[in-house]
Amino acid sequence: MPHVYVGIGSNLSDRTGFLGQAVKSIASLGVLRAVSPIYETAPIGGPDQGPYLNAVAGFDTDLGPLDLLDRLLEIERAAGRVRDEKWGPRTLDLDILWYDGRNIDEVGLTVPHPQIRNRRFVLAPLADVAPRLEDDIAPFADSLGAVADQSIRRMTGPYDVDGERWMLSIEAATELTRDGDVFHVKTPPDWSNTSGDMFGAFLSTVALRAVGEESHGQQPSSVTYQFVHGIPLGAEIEVSPVRVRGTGRSADYVVSLLVAGSVMGRASVSTVASAGRITIAPDVPTVVPLSQCTPVDELFAPFGRLVGASAVSWRPLERWDIPDLVDGSSDLFRAWSPNLTLGADDLFLRASAIMMPIDALIWTTAMHRLGLLGTREIVVTPTLDFSGRFPNLMTDPGWHLGEVTIDHMTDRSVAGTIRVWADDGAYLSVGTSYNLIPDTRYQIPDNN
Ligand code: ADP
Ligand code: MG
Repeated sequence: MPHVYVGIGSNLSDRTGFLGQAVKSIASLGVLRAVSPIYETAPIGGPDQGPYLNAVAGFDTDLGPLDLLDRLLEIERAAGRVRDEKWGPRTLDLDILWYDGRNIDEVGLTVPHPQIRNRRFVLAPLADVAPRLEDDIAPFADSLGAVADQSIRRMTGPYDVDGERWMLSIEAATELTRDGDVFHVKTPPDWSNTSGDMFGAFLSTVALRAVGEESHGQQPSSVTYQFVHGIPLGAEIEVSPVRVRGTGRSADYVVSLLVAGSVMGRASVSTVASAGRITIAPDVPTVVPLSQCTPVDELFAPFGRLVGASAVSWRPLERWDIPDLVDGSSDLFRAWSPNLTLGADDLFLRASAIMMPIDALIWTTAMHRLGLLGTREIVVTPTLDFSGRFPNLMTDPGWHLGEVTIDHMTDRSVAGTIRVWADDGAYLSVGTSYNLIPDTRYQIPDNN
């Protein structure tokens, strides 16, 4: 259905009441998607006019542009609007601002509305409900700066009687969800297009990064994650790290990832003040030239989509097939990154960088063995323990080699080790264990 934005204004008698009525009438023309807060605006045009109230509503409608205009003019008339002077006072003014990205230039209808960029009372509420809306030239919100000298007042907060009345009337008359002082439909994300199979690496990466910003000099010692869903590509992800316990020497954090208000996954990250156990580095295995490698994304192509920057920077050293590994004819996989330079003092970034090979290898292997690769009917709750010398790892340009061994695997669990070498001899080993719960769609309880 075409998506439309309409500007609503009133400067006579019960302005808030007329605006509320207008939103109700507009809702009957299609499916209401969003309503802005109201703004009070000094009048432009004819003399002796009172200030305006303005708002913007977004909705989907099957009405064509001209039919929609007719219906809006009908709603204006029903509100008692009398047209005498141009830009004179009116009980209700409804303007089609934007109609599904179309450019319309007909007698009696120009869309996008030619005055949008000149009017702060249109741009401001439009930016509230559709911050990224644009015409052929640029986002409308880009024009807000040029009209900053026009004085308008956003009517919101508990002390603004009209603003509060507006909020209550919209809440009562529509099915929209209130989010601050803007109303909108929470559109469900597109789950068909997800970062899916790599979600575990993604979740723990985000969790580690979020904790890293708060960790006050401590370094990651373990991460455990649970996940329920893949994250839709392009979705806005809300990350909320909560410190659940902490001293100067160690701390535990729970990090939730939310999309559209739903918890998609949760991770626990522990940190410690001092470096992990120093591990004696085993000899670096023989490295096969990059030209003989198959990129990870190609390797996994038959098993579903693999997304993410870290995914493409790791390349397997040898042609590697999941069936071989699962059959037990091989229990080793090596991957390397030609140039994985990371922030010199960001240990969490380094820890997150090794998530990809862990996830790509151990998890994929286990899923394949269970015949569940590509499905989401499983929960994997791995615990990863870091030990080694984070500070030396992955700070300089050069190659890094990752090697995964599966140490133990049953139908319900898998345990393995990943070792990472850098070309300067820095070494890190990470132990990992996963519990597999087939055929379960695990719901993480929401603590909020
Ligand atoms: P304004 O909204 O500019 O103050 P009026 O509401 O008095 O002006 O007049 C609106 C007229 O402008 C309508 O009769 C309609 O035919 C014409 N018009 C042109 N483009 C639009 C548009 N995008 N939305 C609403 N009316 C429009
Ligand atoms: Mg008008």
